[in-house]
Amino acid sequence: MDRNSPDSPEWFPELQNPPRLLLGPGPSMVHPRVLRAMASPLVGHLDPYFLQIMEMTKKLLRYVFGTQNDLTVPVSGTGSAAMEAALANVIEPGDAVLICINGYFGLRLADMASRYGAQVRTIEKEWGEVFEPDEIQAALKTNPAKVVAIVHAETSTGARQPLAGLAGVVHAADALLLVDAVTSLGGLPVEVDQNGIDICYSGTQKCLSCPPGLGPITFGPRAVEVLVGRKTQVANWYLDMTMIQKYWGTERTYHHTAPISANFALYEGLRIVAEEGLPARYARHERNARRLWDGLQEMGLELHVPEAHRLPSLTTVCIPEGVDGDVVRRRLLDEYRIEIAGGLGALKGKVWRIGLMGYSSQPENVVLLLAALKECLAGA
Ligand SMILES: *Cc1c(COP(=O)(O)O)cnc(C)c1O
Repeated sequence: MDRNSPDSPEWFPELQNPPRLLLGPGPSMVHPRVLRAMASPLVGHLDPYFLQIMEMTKKLLRYVFGTQNDLTVPVSGTGSAAMEAALANVIEPGDAVLICINGYFGLRLADMASRYGAQVRTIEKEWGEVFEPDEIQAALKTNPAKVVAIVHAETSTGARQPLAGLAGVVHAADALLLVDAVTSLGGLPVEVDQNGIDICYSGTQKCLSCPPGLGPITFGPRAVEVLVGRKTQVANWYLDMTMIQKYWGTERTYHHTAPISANFALYEGLRIVAEEGLPARYARHERNARRLWDGLQEMGLELHVPEAHRLPSLTTVCIPEGVDGDVVRRRLLDEYRIEIAGGLGALKGKVWRIGLMGYSSQPENVVLLLAALKECLAGA
């Protein structure tokens, strides 16, 4: 057979995925039970069995989000699809939206909101810092807004935004609080109801340790009121929650075919979260992160974010003077099969980003990474 012809088997070899330890900003390692769930046979998306899985998935999602919100479902698409659903469903053209920007994902929120016709107002902080409630209060005083959007776990900087106190100032200004919990859900407490969050979304590929593909989202009563009171149609057909709710609610009306295997994966991933229990899961993330921080500092490396608001799920490490960060990352991948990431945007070339999310957050992974990094730095 002609080796240069597309119909030759050599031309398109079978997948030979290299083994990797995923310790970057996502995707994280997937639990073997989740991989098995994904390989299970399909059923129809209106099969009574699948409808049962949907009901149980909604219950499990309410548990991880810490909410009683009825409208709590996985959106078909990655975390960015859930981000888009969060904005598209509450924004009508001309609405003012305040976006808190202290990293790459705040910028993405602003970009998306403007595409739905929002008048975007922003407050900005250095990458790695967090916002105080009174700064948001002051911004809302001069610039009233319908929605305030903020990132809980800024994956680009490693900063952990405190959520307590935000709802108070946002609700006092008659706005909705929208929180990006993509890199926090399942790894650190989000507590949607306790924190008064009106709209919160996440992704499956970070602390939930499923493959990328679904974006859990929840809308509280105030957000639902805004949604049903819209004067214009939601400008995104695929992510229109009024239609998606008819499929995930009691009507079971066809909207789009749910990605069945991805939903099986999420269901199994959430079962694993519930088996471990949220408090134990948060403690594990905290413990392994602390071990990583201690180890890095013992090696003389500096961490970008002060401990007071450092994320357990993602750590940013300052690349030492004279070291080529990309070369070290490449050696980690080639010689030790470990993936970590470089910096984004304002932190490009300045930091490494190390994720300890979900199934990746294990003490043996921390020990291996520290040892491998030490080897790579000795030669750098
Ligand atoms: C990863 C991430 C997203 C986007 O999720 P995708 O799955 O890449 O679409 C959004 N926000 C934050 C904070 C993230 O870390």
